[in-house]
Amino acid sequence: MTARGLEVSDVVVEYEAAGRWLPAVAGVSFDVVPGEVLGLLGPSGCGKSTLLRAIAGLERLVRGAVSWDGADLAPVPVHRRGFGLMFQDGQLFPHRDVAGNVAFGLQMAGLGPAERAPRVHELLAMVGLEGFERRQVETLSGGERQRVALARSLAPTPRLLLLDEPLSALDRALREQLAEDLARVLHETRTTAVFVTHDQDEAFAVADRIGVMFSGKLVQVGTAAELRAEGIDRSVRAFLGN
Ligand code: ADP
Repeated sequence: MTARGLEVSDVVVEYEAAGRWLPAVAGVSFDVVPGEVLGLLGPSGCGKSTLLRAIAGLERLVRGAVSWDGADLAPVPVHRRGFGLMFQDGQLFPHRDVAGNVAFGLQMAGLGPAERAPRVHELLAMVGLEGFERRQVETLSGGERQRVALARSLAPTPRLLLLDEPLSALDRALREQLAEDLARVLHETRTTAVFVTHDQDEAFAVADRIGVMFSGKLVQVGTAAELRAEGIDRSVRAFLGN
């Protein structure tokens, strides 16, 4: 089978509000090829997180399909999709040290301690936390926590990594540094990823291509140069501010 990566076709997700069903995602289609990082950019409330959750299998699709390498994922539950998830607040396990957090997915996959240790070491070095194995989670800064969360989500080598505003809780300077590191780590590991953000600088720093969303719809998808070129959708131009 050819490696086609992620295909999202005409996906609709609705929520009930005051007795009516309203679309949070209103017919979205896009592809992410293997090794590519796609950014989903748009203002708060435009449906980015809902779309990401739909890809993960956490939302019921009213219409459309999510597939991987051509296989429809509708019958595949969240934990069998082989996808990794990373959120704004890394959601680390407070009772495990740094190594214990990073090793979690490896342990679930049945790797013994002797196999886990070198992999944990390699991942911590990659995210700039060499020697942090025995540190307790509550002693870490916000940026360090997100680095641990990234290492943990990459440990089981997910076939797709879904990142929901992973840098939003950090202050500006830290965010810029972490965006650079995130881009480097995703490319070094050739990780296929969908990265949700409301911050265009972050989107341009991390993603190979960016999809711009408004009101549940994907208005345009392209590289930074394509999005900034003349002739693009007016709402996209206004949002990007040029
Ligand atoms: P974004 O990630 O772009 O900020 P969301 O996907 O979180 O946007 O939300 C899209 C829309 O769906 C918003 O109008 C939001 O209020 C609504 N929404 C999100 N989650 C729920 C929910 N669990 N129940 C009802 N409405 C929701």
